[in-house]
Amino acid sequence: MSDASDAKFDTIVVGLGAMGSCALAELARRGRRVLGIDRFAPPHERGSSHGGSRVIRLSYFEHPDYVPLLRRAYDGFDRLAKDAGVVLRYETGLVMGGPTGNRVAAGMVRSAREHDLKVDAIDGAELMRRHPQFSVPKDWEIVCEARGGFVRPEATIKAALDGARAAGARVELNAPIDVWRADGDGVWLRTARGTYEARTLVLATGAWMGGVLGDAVAPLRPTRETIVWLDDAGDPSWQASGMPVWLFDRAGAPEIYGVPAFPGMGEPHGMKVGLHCRGEEVDPNEAFGVADGAVVAETIAAVRERIPSSQGRACVNAKNCLYTMSPDSHFIVGLHPAHSNVAVACGFSGHGFKFAPVIGEALADLATDGGTKLPIGFLSPTRKM
Ligand SMILES: Cc1cc2nc3c(=O)[nH]c(=O)nc-3n(C[C@H](O)[C@H](O)[C@H](O)COP(=O)(O)OP(=O)(O)OC[C@H]3O[C@@H](n4cnc5c(N)ncnc54)[C@H](O)[C@@H]3O)c2cc1C
Repeated sequence: MSDASDAKFDTIVVGLGAMGSCALAELARRGRRVLGIDRFAPPHERGSSHGGSRVIRLSYFEHPDYVPLLRRAYDGFDRLAKDAGVVLRYETGLVMGGPTGNRVAAGMVRSAREHDLKVDAIDGAELMRRHPQFSVPKDWEIVCEARGGFVRPEATIKAALDGARAAGARVELNAPIDVWRADGDGVWLRTARGTYEARTLVLATGAWMGGVLGDAVAPLRPTRETIVWLDDAGDPSWQASGMPVWLFDRAGAPEIYGVPAFPGMGEPHGMKVGLHCRGEEVDPNEAFGVADGAVVAETIAAVRERIPSSQGRACVNAKNCLYTMSPDSHFIVGLHPAHSNVAVACGFSGHGFKFAPVIGEALADLATDGGTKLPIGFLSPTRKM
């Protein structure tokens, strides 16, 4: 069937962003004959995995079932970093919360209780005593987690792809797939360069996954989100050595979060801030480009409310980035409902990066054995959403 490739692979991984690069690395590490394909050349700035940092944390407010996966993801980042000889994970500590009863603090405490995690539940007054750069109402409920921090998305993807290549994976870049098929004999797909065959397929095309899967899974909604960098002006209270990662409630409006400036982050240097789930639905092919000035202004105003020292600090950069929302904001990971030789990973709903290494392992298991011992049942593509 193939013309451009004389090889039949064990597995082809389509989409080499966060999840696909880690799946490819894991499959190659296990000695599988693998091909990875991407429409661009990851790490790149047209999908969901750019901007220098991604928050990582254990006491997961979104649902306690994520915690075992997170524990394994922490190890996965550290293993990737060790193999590549780079730093991928920074443990700055993390503070999150809002008014009494806010879902974030309550969810963190619940996860911590269920999984015996160490967190510190404090009030707003104590937060400001510990971290004077913040300004919040004194009676707010805040949860601190010392093991929270951030990981580096571009460096992670590069480490995974370098590792995959070193272990024998073939990688085809700037080659969007336009058609794929699966049947009992295997899988077949086509790019502008040719056609390829394999026993199994991993589909991890991020914000493009709706087009790739059609109506095989619940509808996915790509949204354009905005990231803003504020000049840190060398302020020690804005550096990773003196500021935790943070997220604060905004009374029903999208939460505001921030990642401190850190050494080696490249230019522009500054604190990275954003509004979680502020974006509007977009066609992923049209999402790249100049950030919306009104969203940038709204983001900066929300930061000023909580970090008074941001008054007068210049916005040194702003970028667009894509979320892919699932109907219930939980990930969709498992076998394709109609094809047992196709594994899918999508709908990461703006919180997936921190899981990339463990999702990579799960995808490698699914593509190799048709199942996994990792506890991903709650993310099944066939669950009710
Ligand atoms: C602003 C912002 C902030 C975020 N903050 C956090 C955070 O703090 N913590 C956290 O855990 N998560 C965070 N996330 C979410 C996280 O980054 C994403 O969940 C994760 O990056 C999704 O990875 P992915 O592999 O699904 O997509 P991507 O990394 O975008 O990879 C998909 C890849 O598929 C390729 N592709 C698409 N179509 C095709 C095709 N037809 N053929 C070949 N290749 C194709 C694309 O080029 C791309 O490289 C954030 C996201 C954004 C946008």
